[in-house]
Amino acid sequence: MPLVIPHWAPEAPLQALRLAWLERAGVEVAVLRLDQIDTLVSGNKWFKLIGHLQEAVARGAEGLISLGGAHSNHLHALAAAGRRFGFPTVGLLRGHARETPTVVELRTFGMQLHWLGYAGYRARHQVDFWTPWRERYPALHPVPEGGGGLPGTRGCAALVAMVRAQLPRLGWRDYHAWWLAVGTGTTLAGLVLAEDADVPVHGALAVPADHGVADQVRALLAQAGNREAGYRLIEASRGGFARMDAELLTFMQASEEESGVPLEPLYTAKALLALRRAVEAGEFAAGSRLIFVHTGGLQGRAAAMAACRESG
Ligand SMILES: *Cc1c(COP(=O)(O)O)cnc(C)c1O
Repeated sequence: MPLVIPHWAPEAPLQALRLAWLERAGVEVAVLRLDQIDTLVSGNKWFKLIGHLQEAVARGAEGLISLGGAHSNHLHALAAAGRRFGFPTVGLLRGHARETPTVVELRTFGMQLHWLGYAGYRARHQVDFWTPWRERYPALHPVPEGGGGLPGTRGCAALVAMVRAQLPRLGWRDYHAWWLAVGTGTTLAGLVLAEDADVPVHGALAVPADHGVADQVRALLAQAGNREAGYRLIEASRGGFARMDAELLTFMQASEEESGVPLEPLYTAKALLALRRAVEAGEFAAGSRLIFVHTGGLQGRAAAMAACRESG
């Protein structure tokens, strides 16, 4: 049965973020709660998927196949979308079969899983990687790791209109900048594409700066026909992707208690801590209004915290 996606345009609430260090600096922040779009599907990964789903529909595919790790927010969003809209999904996983909270949910959502090992997963960028999977699942549309690429970028551009529509509720006429966590830069590129050139997008890097994110963002914007650079990337990984330290975890828990907004340590807490640094360094004048994107990821929170306790 060809894939049909019913019209579904979930709205993420935009809420005032109340934290003492923001108040002291006179900086106002509104948080776009992508973690709250739905009970099943969550985070920026849904918006990155929209463009890929549209491609799949256009090609007459019946479902989607993609790849990721055993804690992948992307595979989680894909499997949840398959469950919500009733299409088949297949996940190709890094490493060897193991149970994580994410893996258990993927299976509950009905995703069919294949474990590629580590070497097998590393081969994902080779030209013939998809050939055997296309033969095995000819009716499924392949989606790159993380839901990236130009289709992923275009889906995230919708976030700008979503924020603008909710400004009156906050009593805001406008805002001066965006702030969000960056992995591949797909979400950031989508915001840059849709936003006015005089509203910069600040990306707090959850991966080390030498992972080629800057090149990736430049390539995405060039592909989309927009070379204007209304953005900057800030180192925020604290030594590497998924690296956690006591300062980060203390900050995360204190922020959650004070603001009532749940965070996770891989992306959103790192981005908020980097924002605190920038605010306390005086990078935003008193009276500035910022949009902080809560990119989701809460499904992986418990496992990330457990891994942190294990490694001491
Ligand atoms: C994937 C992810 C990001 C990074 O998004 P990119 O588009 O790859 O930059 C940020 N936050 C969370 C919670 C994510 O799952």
